[in-house]
Amino acid sequence: MATSEERKVRHKKAMQRKKEHIDNKIEKATIDKGLIVVLTGNGKGKSSSAFGMLARSVGHGLHCAVVQFIKGVWETGEHLMFQDHPLVEFHVMATGFTWDTQDRDKDIAAAEATWKEAARLLQDESIDVIVLDELTYMLTYGYLDKQSVLDTLTSRPEMQHVIITGRNASPELIEIADTVAELESVKHAFDSGVKVQKGIDY
Ligand code: ATP
Ligand code: MG
Repeated sequence: MATSEERKVRHKKAMQRKKEHIDNKIEKATIDKGLIVVLTGNGKGKSSSAFGMLARSVGHGLHCAVVQFIKGVWETGEHLMFQDHPLVEFHVMATGFTWDTQDRDKDIAAAEATWKEAARLLQDESIDVIVLDELTYMLTYGYLDKQSVLDTLTSRPEMQHVIITGRNASPELIEIADTVAELESVKHAFDSGVKVQKGIDY
């Protein structure tokens, strides 16, 4: 068995190698550009991560916008927090799509009206960061034209960041993104019969 002295030496060496590796990476990362960040998968944490980045951005005084493509039943904390904030323009899909929707034509009209706001923001150089919350569903259900969404995203101002959330992000969206994370559900309280909790879920 290694003595505690040997373990200390080994640990120090491993940490040095790690530091060199990271320093090397930091040195190579010299590009400054607007990113497309996609947060997808079935696990919890997509929208809350997006709003975490929004809070960071607002903290830095960046001009932000949010477009939420699903109007849930609960008034969300993020909406209450940011709707009147001078640095945030906040849009929530007014009517139509909710999880228990039944009217496809109405949903498409609502999706298109909401996308119009997003498309305008995606051409506005004064907006630094845009959250497109639950956008992926509009593409998986075919409510919006995928190619036109992709074109609008890729032709946005060079320094503008876009954060997109929702399950089942399409391969084309993943392709044009710079950072993609897939959240995996390990367990969720909901499956044990726990109701949605204020602050944690909405
Ligand atoms: P959050 O807004 O909490 O970050 P999310 O954006 O990753 O969650 P959505 O698919 O948008 O997840 O679902 C929103 C709601 O569904 C939240 O109330 C969230 O807690 C709940 N939820 C998320 N993941 C799961 C899951 N695996 N099972 C059941 N409910 C979930
Ligand atoms: Mg979400």
